[in-house]
Amino acid sequence: MNYQELSCLLFPHIDKDVSYYEQLYPEREEKGHFVTRFAPSPTGFIHMGSLYVAFISELFSRKNNGTFFLRIEDTDQKRLQKDGIQNILADLKQFAFTIDEGPMIGGNYGPYIQSERKEIYECFAKELVSKGLAYPCFCTKEELDEIRAKQEKNHDRIGYYGKWAKDRNLSMDDIREKINQKNPYVIRLKSQGHFDKRILFNDLVKGKVSFPENDLDIVLIKSDGLPTYHFAHAIDDHLMHTTHIIRGDEWLSSLPIHFELFKVLGFKFPKYAHISPINKKENNRVRKLSKRYDLECRIDFYYEKGFPIEAIKIYLATLINPDFDNWYNSSHDSMLNFDFTFKKMSISGPLFDYEKLVNISKTYFSLLTASNIYDGLLSYSKIYDERLYNIITKYKDYTISVLNIERNQKRPRKDISCYQDFKKLFWYMYDEYFNEKDVLCLYKDLSQKPFIKEIMLAFLNAYQKKDSEDEWLTKIKQICDKYNYASNVKDYKENQGYYYGHIGDVCSFIRNIITTKNESPNLYEILKILSDESIKKRIEQFLSQTN
Ligand code: GLU
Repeated sequence: MNYQELSCLLFPHIDKDVSYYEQLYPEREEKGHFVTRFAPSPTGFIHMGSLYVAFISELFSRKNNGTFFLRIEDTDQKRLQKDGIQNILADLKQFAFTIDEGPMIGGNYGPYIQSERKEIYECFAKELVSKGLAYPCFCTKEELDEIRAKQEKNHDRIGYYGKWAKDRNLSMDDIREKINQKNPYVIRLKSQGHFDKRILFNDLVKGKVSFPENDLDIVLIKSDGLPTYHFAHAIDDHLMHTTHIIRGDEWLSSLPIHFELFKVLGFKFPKYAHISPINKKENNRVRKLSKRYDLECRIDFYYEKGFPIEAIKIYLATLINPDFDNWYNSSHDSMLNFDFTFKKMSISGPLFDYEKLVNISKTYFSLLTASNIYDGLLSYSKIYDERLYNIITKYKDYTISVLNIERNQKRPRKDISCYQDFKKLFWYMYDEYFNEKDVLCLYKDLSQKPFIKEIMLAFLNAYQKKDSEDEWLTKIKQICDKYNYASNVKDYKENQGYYYGHIGDVCSFIRNIITTKNESPNLYEILKILSDESIKKRIEQFLSQTN
């Protein structure tokens, strides 16, 4: 067989040879440069699993002053989604990834969308054909099904290899005839491997793993002219000089194929880190977090709730290396200063813990300034809650004061975990929301309390916005004395039965009527922020319902 002739027959339009591309994409300048990439397929939305892998790739390249690029793997044209690429780009932007090269951004190693690299793959396929290392295969689906059925019947290994590789040795005349008849075909690797030999790999996460050599004549170029994942991976990561392939561990078992491809193509084998998936515990069973079944796997879920991207990233960092947690809590330093290692990553995969994410986010919010939160809340509500957006735009300083309650102290409140919480926690600070609620039903029990009406009237008369917290408390104590509520709890406890209640109860009455809640942040601060009118109106509303 004249392989040279065959390669020209199969790829008559390819006039470049591989050395052209080797020269076009030379070694990156700094030797030993750390190059990682994120290579999503635009077949759906980015989910927590893919975000996690992207985050690891970016983090390791940043830590090593390396390069992080984006490559869109759109060779499976049937599974492409409309706006798939735009969605990926938007998500990566939202997550503030720093991408050094990629579609839209450009770079010296592009194009970064695989469907635009068709000629490159064809050129390398042509080279393999010309060396007798690849060949056209015309098998139809029916023929492949038949091979499979026979293998199943014989209890043979499934696949296109060895004696089953029907089209491996077609003659030039056969091939020419089939091409003339316009029979569709793929280009397959002529595998040189032996299944009975094993090869050992050193994966950066999984450690030493061993597999039988590849002996499958895998498809390199599909009948639509586009490459398979395997072939594109080898060529792209070689030409783009990726030093560390960080990808999901569903690809681990493909290592023998990739090893053979790098070998026959004459490429240096890169380092691999196969990332275990994020797991979820459910009914005492651990399973992979699923984009189909688990809401918390969807990125939209976090957008809609308004979790800050930084908090999500801190949480993801704790999944990479568990000891990051303690380090971060004690330092609150930039995560780039933490010594992340592949070795410390869980081989079976970390467990997703939503509550932990919530707590991390609460701590994150507790360390922000009120105006920072206000800005975030504004951007969030602009998209997700127009009414809130209008309200907080109208009451900017007021809202910042609300956010400042118990903030400027040694241990600020940890109550907001996401922007959606703001309204849930503080709606009563806005008459717009307060007046809409059926608050009266909440006062039912309250109206039975001894002297409640008198107490509230006395409070309304005594309350002065300008009072310091001490002055305010003194006034409350005076009211307590007047209506036989103990002005300190100790006194109340020592004289059981003598008092109707104590100062805590009186504060609860006020809190209840002003906020409708049994618990709230510092009552004095709340009253200080609310307008006198609102306070008066709320108390009067209560009184009007109490006989
Ligand atoms: N396009 C592949 C995927 O989405 C990428 C795997 C890789 O990172 O090499 O699974």
